[in-house]
Amino acid sequence: MVDTKVSVSSFHDLIRYYIITMSIILITIVLGKRTWCQYICPMYIFNYIGMNIGSFLKLPSLKITCKSEKCTQCKRCTNNCLMGIEVADMVKNNNWNTKECIQCGKCLNVCKCDVLKRKWKK
Ligand code: SF4
Ligand code: SF4
Repeated sequence: MVDTKVSVSSFHDLIRYYIITMSIILITIVLGKRTWCQYICPMYIFNYIGMNIGSFLKLPSLKITCKSEKCTQCKRCTNNCLMGIEVADMVKNNNWNTKECIQCGKCLNVCKCDVLKRKWKK
């Protein structure tokens, strides 16, 4: 019964808590990693809609670009990506075609070879 924490004050609350938790776990097991972030979280849905409108209208937006030739395939970017994206593979194939990226910049920060940059692009 505290404002700042999740509390379970009755047996019914406990059942509800486990139903919600198990649903999230089951969705992830059935549909794959990051399912919650990619398909259910409202922030991702707004991000996805915004990116599609931007590409349709050919508006400039902040994008990550890479210099594949500098990459040593150390995979620090992949291992640190919050969205579980195979960043090193995208760099290797010089193909940054993902709508899952939330532009957090973590991959840029951990890359020691200065491979990744942010640029405004159409
Ligand atoms: S962290 Fe940099 S050098 Fe390492 S795999 Fe990623 S892009 Fe390549
Ligand atoms: S910017 Fe963030 S979400 Fe996007 S690829 Fe890099 S680490 Fe992953």
